[in-house]
Amino acid sequence: MRPIQVTISLSALEHNLAVAKSKAPQSKIMAVVKANGYGHGLLNAAKGLKAADGFAILGLDEALTLRNAGYTQTILMLEGVFSSDELIHVSEKAISIVVHSEVQINMLEQVKLAKPISVHLKINTGMNRLGFKPSDFESARVRLEACSNVADLTLMTHFATADEFVGIAEPLAVFNKTTQDHQEPCSLANSASLLRFPEAHGQWVRAGIMLYGSSPVAGESAASFNLKPVMQFTSKIIAVQSLETDESIGYGQTFTAVKKTRVGIVACGYADGYPRHAPNGTPVAVAGELTQIIGRVSMDMLYVDISDIPEAEIGAHVELWGSQASVDDVAQAAGTISYELLCAVAPRVSIKVVG
Ligand SMILES: *Cc1c(COP(=O)(O)O)cnc(C)c1O
Repeated sequence: MRPIQVTISLSALEHNLAVAKSKAPQSKIMAVVKANGYGHGLLNAAKGLKAADGFAILGLDEALTLRNAGYTQTILMLEGVFSSDELIHVSEKAISIVVHSEVQINMLEQVKLAKPISVHLKINTGMNRLGFKPSDFESARVRLEACSNVADLTLMTHFATADEFVGIAEPLAVFNKTTQDHQEPCSLANSASLLRFPEAHGQWVRAGIMLYGSSPVAGESAASFNLKPVMQFTSKIIAVQSLETDESIGYGQTFTAVKKTRVGIVACGYADGYPRHAPNGTPVAVAGELTQIIGRVSMDMLYVDISDIPEAEIGAHVELWGSQASVDDVAQAAGTISYELLCAVAPRVSIKVVG
C-alpha cells in the first residue's frame, strides 16, 4: 500500500470548538461541515464537533447523513433547497433551511408539509452572492411569516471581507438598519468575524475553518488564535537521489542544483490533492525537520531537499502539512488558502481518525 495518509485528530476538533465557544460565549455555535467536513470526512468532523449547537452543510444528502447518524441538533442547509421535493424530507427530518430567493419562497408557499420548517432568511449586505437586497427584505419576511410551512425565522447574512483589513463595519450597518424593527435571532459571523468582531456575534455564529485549526485571517497564524491543526497529511520517502551541481529534477527541470543536493522522492502528488502549483521552497517536514519541496509536483510524487537531513532515508516520515508545516504556510506558498488544500485531499488517500 502507498504510505500516504491523512490523520484526523478528534481532540483538536474539540479543542478548536471550545476556542470558538470561549470567543463567542453568548452565541450558539453552528459548526460548518460542508465540503465533506472541509475534507476531513463529514462524520469524522461531526464526531469531533458533536458538542456544537448545530451543523451547516449544503446538500440534503449531507443533512440526512447527519440526522441518520443520530445528531439531533440544528442542521442548516446553507443554500436552502434546490427543488421543492426536497422540502418533504427537510420537514420530516426537522432540517433548517436558508431561504435566499423568491423562487424558494414560492416553493415553501406551494408545498404541503406535515411539519413547518425553521428558516434562515438571508439578506444580501453587499457580497452580492446569495440573499435578498435590503429593499426586498421586508416583503420576503412578511411572506415567510405568513407561510404556514415556516416554523420560525432567523435573520442571516454573510460578509465578504471579514478576513480583510476593511472588516465588516459597512455591511454590518446595512444588516442592523435593515433588521432594526425585528426581534428575530440573527446569524452573521463566520470564523473571521467570530474571532475579530464581537459586535457580529448574534444568536448564532457559523464557525468553519477555525474548527479545523487553520487561521481565517491572512498573516495571522492559527497558533496565535490558540487553534490546533486537525489534519495531518503524511507520507514517506520511497527513493533517494543525489544531484550534482547543474543537474535538475522532475518534469520541466524547474529545479537545478547549485550544489550537491540530496533529494527525497515522496509518495504524494497532485492526484492525492497536493497542489501542483506549489513552487520550490514550499515548506514540508521530513523526519521531524522542516525543509522544502523542490521541482515540479507530479501526479504521484514530489521531491524534497534532504541535503541537511542525513538521517532521512527510504521510509523516512514526511509531513506534507499538519503540526510542523502548517497548512496555512503551504497554502500561502502555493498561492491559495488552506480551505482549498483541505477540501482537495483526494479520495484515494485513506483517512485515519485518532482521539
Ligand atoms: C462556509 C461558510 C461559513 C464558514 O466560513 P469559515 O470562513 O470557514 O468560517 C459561514 N457561513 C457561510 C454562509 C458559509 O458558506
